[in-house]
Amino acid sequence: MNFDTLGLSPRLINALHEQGITDPTPIQTQAIPHAMAGRDVMGLAQTGSGKTAAFGLPMLDALMKNGRKAEPKTPRALILAPTRELARQIHDTLSAFAQGSHLKLALITGGVGFTPQIERMARGVAILVATPGRLVDLLDRRAVDLSKTEFLVLDEADQMLDLGFIHSLRRIATLLPKARQTMLFSATMPKLMEEIAGAFLTDPVRVQVNPPGQAVAKIDQWLHYVAKGAKTDLLIELLDKHRDELAIVFGRTKHGSDKLARQLEAAGFGVAAIHGNKSQGQRDRAIAAFRDGEVRVLVATDVAARGLDIPGIRHVYNYDLPNVPENYVHRIGRTARAGADGTAVAFCAPDEMGELKDIEKAMKAKIPVASGAPWEVVPEAKPARPGAKPGAGKGGRPQGRPAAANAQRRPAQGTPGAKPGVQAQKPRRHTAPRRNKTHAA
Ligand code: AMP
Repeated sequence: MNFDTLGLSPRLINALHEQGITDPTPIQTQAIPHAMAGRDVMGLAQTGSGKTAAFGLPMLDALMKNGRKAEPKTPRALILAPTRELARQIHDTLSAFAQGSHLKLALITGGVGFTPQIERMARGVAILVATPGRLVDLLDRRAVDLSKTEFLVLDEADQMLDLGFIHSLRRIATLLPKARQTMLFSATMPKLMEEIAGAFLTDPVRVQVNPPGQAVAKIDQWLHYVAKGAKTDLLIELLDKHRDELAIVFGRTKHGSDKLARQLEAAGFGVAAIHGNKSQGQRDRAIAAFRDGEVRVLVATDVAARGLDIPGIRHVYNYDLPNVPENYVHRIGRTARAGADGTAVAFCAPDEMGELKDIEKAMKAKIPVASGAPWEVVPEAKPARPGAKPGAGKGGRPQGRPAAANAQRRPAQGTPGAKPGVQAQKPRRHTAPRRNKTHAA
């Protein structure tokens, strides 16, 4: 199977060849013919599967064949993505495919001023790539009119839901014409997606390349049971083995990620950090420095890193396990892009046993253990009786702690720095809600 047999115009095939893309990926083979035939498509595809071209090529093909001039404010195609970085990436990928054509693209995301975006829309745009929040702001200002939009793409739709964009999406749905073609791509299919799919898609063709939530086989996954206080030493030791290769390190909180970045810098690594508190300029500069290899380590939180496509990433470290289990698969999907190999290393501290269990359940697979042994899970304490001492028996997730006898024997299989004294830390309680914790990122 090649791109010619999928029915794409020679012009697009040439543009692909110029980028060294000759054979379609499985999601492209499955989705493109249906999309070319005008069908709505619901694609279950993992990060790195070639989704952008799967929806972008048929859309560009149709827009190129119908040479209607872009009118002010009224994009002919709208692509929604959850994060600024992903939106930019889609914009840049499609711009490269559309080079030399009459099609004008625009990128509308938060974190930058309104005026240039309003002016850009007023000049006429064929393809608008946007994050939902900023798009709604521009709709409110009447700077964008969706009444003539022929193509709609919802990319990484599950993360848009996780980030709380459901209201924006519902609002946008009401402003689009009924007669349009819609494609929805998601790595997972949570329940709420059915509502979204029902609201946006008409009789969609379902395409799927890998069971949702399962990791790319080419990623070598490893797990270290390591005490919280010993994680940084272990990370430094592992990073040190591959100093010349790009590594992304996931932390859970903005503050924790900043602190970790400083520690890694102090240990002599070139480090950049991205999270929700960084300005758009800082995020863009950090990613550019990482992409160009000026810094080899990027410390990131989930919200800033989803959808990042940097082909050279060889190592993903889950310094903290994600509290939304599906994010584990998204995080490790930052490596082994487009057929390359990659390694994903996860650290599990005593209070992360619950997260680990959820991740392995969602993946339907165990992560092979590189060092240490599972922490003993302390059963959940009973709720406090009236009159009991304060602090006793608050609810929470099961906590892990090293078994007393075990603690003396570890570190097992050579976990560096996993000192018994550090392992026996006081278990932390989870008090925050486990999903939609993106405010922390
Ligand atoms: P995506 O899943 O759209 O983020 O794509 C992941 C990566 O795969 C990007 O770097 C694309 O340039 C690359 N890619 C997309 N389609 C192909 C293809 N047919 N052959 C080789 N690489 C591809």
